[in-house]
Amino acid sequence: MEAPKNESFRDSIGTVTEDGKRAWVYPKKPSGRYYERRKIVSYVLLTFLFVAPFIKIGGNQFLMFNVLERRFNIFGFPFWPQDFYLFVISMIIGVVFITLFTVGFGRIFCGWICPQTIFMEMVFRRIEYWIEGDRNKQRKLDRQQWDAEKIRKRLLKWFIFLVISFLIANVFLAYLIGSDKLIKYITDGPLEHLGTLFPLIIFTGVFYFVFAWFREQVCIIACPYGRLQGVLLDNKSIVVAYDHKRGEGENGRKKFRKNEDRQALGHGDCIDCLQCVHVCPTGIDIRNGTQLECVNCTACIDECDHIMESINLPKGLIRYASEENIEKKKTFEFSPRLKGYTAVLVILIGVLSGLLLLRNDVEARVLRLPGQLYERKGESIISNVFTYKLINKTTEEIGDINFKLRKYKGEIKIVSNTGNIVVPEQGLAEGTLFIEIDKNNLKGDKNKLMIDVYSGEELIETTTVSFLGPRSYN
Ligand code: SF4
Ligand code: SF4
Repeated sequence: MEAPKNESFRDSIGTVTEDGKRAWVYPKKPSGRYYERRKIVSYVLLTFLFVAPFIKIGGNQFLMFNVLERRFNIFGFPFWPQDFYLFVISMIIGVVFITLFTVGFGRIFCGWICPQTIFMEMVFRRIEYWIEGDRNKQRKLDRQQWDAEKIRKRLLKWFIFLVISFLIANVFLAYLIGSDKLIKYITDGPLEHLGTLFPLIIFTGVFYFVFAWFREQVCIIACPYGRLQGVLLDNKSIVVAYDHKRGEGENGRKKFRKNEDRQALGHGDCIDCLQCVHVCPTGIDIRNGTQLECVNCTACIDECDHIMESINLPKGLIRYASEENIEKKKTFEFSPRLKGYTAVLVILIGVLSGLLLLRNDVEARVLRLPGQLYERKGESIISNVFTYKLINKTTEEIGDINFKLRKYKGEIKIVSNTGNIVVPEQGLAEGTLFIEIDKNNLKGDKNKLMIDVYSGEELIETTTVSFLGPRSYN
């Protein structure tokens, strides 16, 4: 957005005073059409966040990020260390997705979807409004002595914050170690699992610190995504923006006076009521233009719309708009650029879905035993020895495993005590096998063999190996 003449606000952040102290933000309680919509979105997302680790698909936890055991489930698809490339690809797609989305639509993610904003604005802040009241009452309470009222309100607030932080920490743990383990640890009693209890207490402390004290500083100071905005946004990006053309007019903004003809006086529609500033959870003035601190929460849109309504002016002085929209007074268009980005996003999502759907539930690896070439057996049989590893990513045991050569005539002999290979659920089976082929059936000294892996009669995986034979067959 067009920069105001005085750019001194860019030298500091809105939540730090000139002498370097924290400027505590007491945002006014938002209300309006966007706030109502954000509430609905937040209810859906919070429900999803709390329920997702307890949903199972085909026996797999819907979402799990078990970093310690390097096991990840995404939408019920288990990712093993062997699938790490898929996990990395999906992470890259995620980054590309967010980047493209941001270039087109600004920080919509921060305002509507980011868990930090949702917990802060839709859970913790609302509890604060409920206990301590709106902006002015909170400021008054902060200034007042530690009397009975202040102690009661603060203790109640801190206690509720702590309980919610503890709940979030438990859900976080369910994502990390798996909900089954978490439930088991809870039913066993926390003292039985001190190794998990300590991280749980630390997580609770971190969440409490973030939501009770650190708050908007996460978005302003700590979040790398926020810091990237300067590079990602351009004059076509849709952001929460103040229409400075309309707001400032020829002669700038001016306080409202009844029966005054503002247009004739050349003043814009902004009546300098500061309500958009008071409602901002990051303590900025959106009229200064797009700023790093703005999380696109839409609270200032709602607030300004109320003001415009009350003075009978059209809503939308602050609205979702691009700099181009404001400068050229064009209405929002789904431009070819946005269409292009959307197409790229759709393709990326398609690629990821395809990769996930094509992935096998069972993975087979057959590798030559290091240092071994080939062995002759009798007159014409050539034998190679291999190790095999079968990984079962499903939640059901796979039994009656047998291997068959495709195209080549030959025999696969498994070194096994029982004669029956079983791959346990979410586990692996490994061992040794010999492949024996008549030298007359070989095509050279290096032969690429395809091995089909069956469970009973069902083909579950195909893999390839290199089979060595003598250079000359005479
Ligand atoms: S709420 Fe609207 S009218 Fe009031 S100061 Fe902000 S932009 Fe101007
Ligand atoms: S400027 Fe407006 S949209 Fe940005 S953080 Fe403040 S209130 Fe939210």
